[in-house]
Amino acid sequence: MKRTDINQIGEFGLIDRIQQWFSAKNESTVLGIGDDAAIIDVGGHYQLVSTDMLLEGVHFDLSYVPLGHLGYKAIAVNVSDIAAMNGVARQVTVSLGLSNRFSVEAVDALYEGIAQACENYKVDLIGGDTTSSASGLVISVAALGEVPKDSVVRRSGAQAHDIVCVTGDLGGAYMGLQVLEREKAAYLSNPDMQPQLNAYDYIVGRQLKPEARADIIFELHDLGVVPTAMIDVSDGLASELFHLAKQSKVGFNIFEKDIPIDDLTYRTAIEFKLDPITAALNGGEDYELLFTIGQQDFEKIKNHPDIHFIGYAQQEAKGIHLVTSQQQAVPLQAQGWNHFHNTNGSNNNG
Ligand code: ADP
Ligand code: MG
Repeated sequence: MKRTDINQIGEFGLIDRIQQWFSAKNESTVLGIGDDAAIIDVGGHYQLVSTDMLLEGVHFDLSYVPLGHLGYKAIAVNVSDIAAMNGVARQVTVSLGLSNRFSVEAVDALYEGIAQACENYKVDLIGGDTTSSASGLVISVAALGEVPKDSVVRRSGAQAHDIVCVTGDLGGAYMGLQVLEREKAAYLSNPDMQPQLNAYDYIVGRQLKPEARADIIFELHDLGVVPTAMIDVSDGLASELFHLAKQSKVGFNIFEKDIPIDDLTYRTAIEFKLDPITAALNGGEDYELLFTIGQQDFEKIKNHPDIHFIGYAQQEAKGIHLVTSQQQAVPLQAQGWNHFHNTNGSNNNG
């Protein structure tokens, strides 16, 4: 029998392949595989469903990730997927695979973070599953949310001339990971060394304890803006732009000078001899929202302090380009596109 390595088709190729097996049999299934969350018609509104799994050794390293932060992050990343549909998360389930090196106190620490996130995002933990694991800690979260039918936002609604917006700043979580990995390596070679993290608080926090931008969903609602397409930035700006482009059948022009990068992210990238723009484009795990709006909505949000306008959508045939600070248009590469090869840290959020 033929054997194809998963690397050859990549995570997204694999999902496309799985999708081919299924078509919706129920009228209530409005949207299945392919967006940040599925859409289910429950009558008066749409229900949103999303699930994400975090694995020890793939998504996190317990030698520097505190369990409380990990619990918080597991909830936040799921709330983020609901937000990416313009929805509000209401409930979560949390399923655990635990190896026998875990103590009751360790589970308590994990749930302290989970409970804190449930409190902050006002979601109810309504169940889950607990099993033993032979390969370290596994956390699988499913989130349920809701959205009025007329304001659900898919990845597929962007049109040529729409304005591309992104919240917050990008690349920080990736640079935070680089700092954590460096300090771990230093500690392993000399256990007397204390990690030097104080100067990197902001970006280390971006990696360890990201926030879902549920706040933005409420603000867009108050401003009367429904994005035409939206996705959360889990794999990096470039990868997410490719998703929006593919599903909306558009191209993009993105201006390098307008990509928001925090000062500490910028300086840390330089310190690590990395291009800050590369960190923003391909780093991932920022959990900001990337969305498009019709030009008529620009006036309503142009003064929002935490929404940045980074480019515009164009006809699909024009492709996806990054306009550099030297005014050169270079085709954008999406590294997050095929990241099954990555074995640690960022760029692995499935
Ligand atoms: P996100 O990064 O927003 O969590 P993913 O890239 O993980 O999104 O998933 C994209 C889409 O593929 C989602 O609709 C998700 O539900 C679906 N998906 C991912 N893995 C599987 C799978 N093994 N079986 C069915 N659907 C899947
Ligand atoms: Mg997502």
